[in-house]
Amino acid sequence: MIPRPFEYHAPSSVDDVVKLLVDLGDDAKLLAGGHSLLPMMKLRFAEPGHLIDLGRIPALKYIAQEGNEIRIGAMTSENELIWSPLLKEKIPLLVEAAGLISDPQVRYKGTIGGDISHGDPGNDHPALMLCLGASFVLRGPKGERVVPAAGYFLGTYMTAIQPDELMTEVRIPVPAAGSGWCYAKLKRKTGDFATAATAVQLQMQGDTVQSVSIALTNVADTALKASDAEAALLGRKLDDAAIEDAARKAMAICSPVEDLRGDVEYKTAMAGEMTRRALHTAAARAKR
Ligand SMILES: Cc1cc2nc3c(=O)[nH]c(=O)nc-3n(C[C@H](O)[C@H](O)[C@H](O)COP(=O)(O)OP(=O)(O)OC[C@H]3O[C@@H](n4cnc5c(N)ncnc54)[C@H](O)[C@@H]3O)c2cc1C
Repeated sequence: MIPRPFEYHAPSSVDDVVKLLVDLGDDAKLLAGGHSLLPMMKLRFAEPGHLIDLGRIPALKYIAQEGNEIRIGAMTSENELIWSPLLKEKIPLLVEAAGLISDPQVRYKGTIGGDISHGDPGNDHPALMLCLGASFVLRGPKGERVVPAAGYFLGTYMTAIQPDELMTEVRIPVPAAGSGWCYAKLKRKTGDFATAATAVQLQMQGDTVQSVSIALTNVADTALKASDAEAALLGRKLDDAAIEDAARKAMAICSPVEDLRGDVEYKTAMAGEMTRRALHTAAARAKR
């Protein structure tokens, strides 16, 4: 289908974006990489009268370290995450997961800010952000606020951002040196969203789990933090019984919808399997 007619705006600063959002109100939509918004407009699930393109604002594209935080501009593309030597060294979980998103075309244009803002439970960045304890910088007419990823994702296509705000930056605390990581993602083919996926970041002391963070993709109406699974592992020897216990606790919080990728039982089982695999790999990568 063809989208309804819209007016195109190409502001060159964040201040100008905020002004447009205030002036145009609910009839305006922000355009980042366009790989989620434009398909929705073609299907007429979204019918904005105005598109505000963020693509002409170089100040929204960067990856930098500030103290013990990595800061990523909202318009940074998936490929820029993958190519970043800083991220490879400090947050390899993000690099691994970005490489599993869709195909090269999508990764050239799709942005971290757009992926998070879309609020699609099938998107990979929401679970990554929960796993890494990220926060988001939102700018609106009243200034800037910093919102933690925990509590940000409210439901399918629903987040805590207000209609007159844009996301400018993603902030991620640098994981402890020597920690292990893994994003285990099951997808039917290249270009498909996850049937289920699990993000793990952990620290080991010998065979014992010193700290662990686990989050799940596409098995509920938002990304999920698997807090019970984390609690079950903390301070425990990471043997097969502990991993099985964590996988079962992760499965217990899943409530996926049935679709072409599988029914509820299959998707839940796959969330368990991705959790097992991610824990095994993260532990093998951790320094002890
Ligand atoms: C074939 C295909 C397969 C895909 N597979 C995956 C996958 O496996 N995993 C995955 O994670 N994603 C996948 N995607 C989605 C892709 O990663 C999109 O690029 C991403 O969801 C949206 O990012 P974008 O930059 O393209 O945003 P856009 O499509 O431009 O925008 C998406 C939404 O976010 C809003 N928005 C954008 N930027 C901001 C901002 N800075 N502040 C506030 N709101 C903003 C827009 O207004 C819009 O509502 C796939 C897409 C396609 C087409």
